[in-house]
Amino acid sequence: MHDLVGQVSRLVEMGRVFVIELEALVYTCIECHTHLGLPSDIISKQILNFSRLFNTFLAERTSSSALQHIVCVGCANIIGFYGVSDKGGPYWVLSVLSCQRKNKMSSSESPLHNVFVYGSFQEPAVVGLILECTPVIVSAQLHGFHRYRLKGRLHPCIAPFETGVINGKVLTGVTNAQLENLDMIEGAEYERKTVEVVLTDTSEKMQVEAYIWANKDDPDMYGEWDFEEWKQLHMEKFIEASRKFIEWKKNPNGRTREEFEKFVHEDPPMA
Ligand SMILES: [Zn+2]
Repeated sequence: MHDLVGQVSRLVEMGRVFVIELEALVYTCIECHTHLGLPSDIISKQILNFSRLFNTFLAERTSSSALQHIVCVGCANIIGFYGVSDKGGPYWVLSVLSCQRKNKMSSSESPLHNVFVYGSFQEPAVVGLILECTPVIVSAQLHGFHRYRLKGRLHPCIAPFETGVINGKVLTGVTNAQLENLDMIEGAEYERKTVEVVLTDTSEKMQVEAYIWANKDDPDMYGEWDFEEWKQLHMEKFIEASRKFIEWKKNPNGRTREEFEKFVHEDPPMA
């Protein structure tokens, strides 16, 4: 990796590295968002094989291998490999883990979201499954709300409460598709609203989305929900439910969100 960084700085010394901006739907580097490729240049979708890529260079060949690593000029990470086919045509294969497909037009109109979470989504193992990647998570406080337990359920809800303070987390850089997953899991009993939180480390204020219990006078709300208790008693079950949710979402098979809900209800008391 140090060699690659060296190669990038040599490139920079040789003159400015021009980073080309591609239009519309593009493949971008997952680390630095540099634009890498166009869907119209894909030869095979199965392995993300392109006839050309942009904003990359090839690492010096280190072995007798016919393949060379492709390096992103933005972050110097290896993002795939390059070779030449029997017929003499070059192929550029992007690693699926190092790139993402995104629509430039829509992403500029709808920026990423920050979401305040205060229940099971504070746990990276759960939220990582629901969002299908682990976002950057920062601690934050929400004032003017209380975190209640809900009768017969394992997840909390929040509702306005003048002197209340909730310690939770902000999931940063959430995409529209990821927000859709959160909306789907939270369901119609919560309303997603914009609230202001205070970041714990910097005291900075931040506008974020939060899921607030729609029925603020719900008689099922009581007491105070406890994250540590949840971790000890119920986390395993939520991880399993989240895994199922993503499976069902990818392959619905007529199942619905209600299936997920069964998991997160308290077991009926033993007779
Ligand atoms: Zn990059």
